[in-house]
Amino acid sequence: MNLFSLLSDFVFCSINSGSNGNCYFIGAGDCGILVDVGISVRTIESRLKAIGYDLQCVKAVLLTHSHIDHVKGVPQLIKRCKIPVYASESCFSMLMECNMTMDSDLCKVVTPVINIDCFRIEPFYTEHDAPGSLGFFVSNGDKSIVIATDVGTLTPAVKSFLKKADNVVIETNYDKEMLLNGSYPDMLKSRIMGGHGHLGNEETCAFIIENYKRRWDNVFFCHLSENNNSPDKVMSCFHHYLNEKNIHDFGNTVVHLLSRYEASPLFYL
Ligand SMILES: [Zn+2]
Ligand SMILES: [Zn+2]
Repeated sequence: MNLFSLLSDFVFCSINSGSNGNCYFIGAGDCGILVDVGISVRTIESRLKAIGYDLQCVKAVLLTHSHIDHVKGVPQLIKRCKIPVYASESCFSMLMECNMTMDSDLCKVVTPVINIDCFRIEPFYTEHDAPGSLGFFVSNGDKSIVIATDVGTLTPAVKSFLKKADNVVIETNYDKEMLLNGSYPDMLKSRIMGGHGHLGNEETCAFIIENYKRRWDNVFFCHLSENNNSPDKVMSCFHHYLNEKNIHDFGNTVVHLLSRYEASPLFYL
């Protein structure tokens, strides 16, 4: 494979996105990385196969945090593939507390910059309520994508990584009205909305619209709640902010919703 194809062939696929399990694939040339492994290895394998990749091309796993919808399949994947797992020290401690046993040689505590094959990765801390929660900025030296799921609050650090990326994956977890009027206990409602849980449609869409001049190539809305959100709610919120700002030209930015039930197509970034 020549250098040009390595640089140009930078791809992204959402293998699954939502509280039922999260897993994202980023590929370049013939290698790839997974961000989070919240579903079974069998499902990952079959969904990767459908987009032309196999498990052997996965060189590493990056974990955003220790919640089960992000780590469920990790031990199985590591046992099978013997690839390194990158996470914060606190995340590894949480996994050990939950008796998630992994070969310690494969557990790599993140550093400010991580190089894996042709990927340059910059982790950044978020306010989510699992110790040492992270987002990831991933670049192939040409294009970049940021994964900002379960961030809780759009802190200055999170915003700066979102703004400098060419492509963003950002959570739109809940519609405020649906959450407030829904059946969740008050404590859980407060946890989700309280700055250390999730970003709602309003916060995320307002941020994306305010920064529309950034001209992202793709905006992927992820981690939609099954009970407190719907694709229609996300898109109507997005259009509400577009109209409010009187924006008719969103440039070449393409907006996508990532599914809780199936893999996305393979996107060439
Ligand atoms: Zn989650
Ligand atoms: Zn979480």
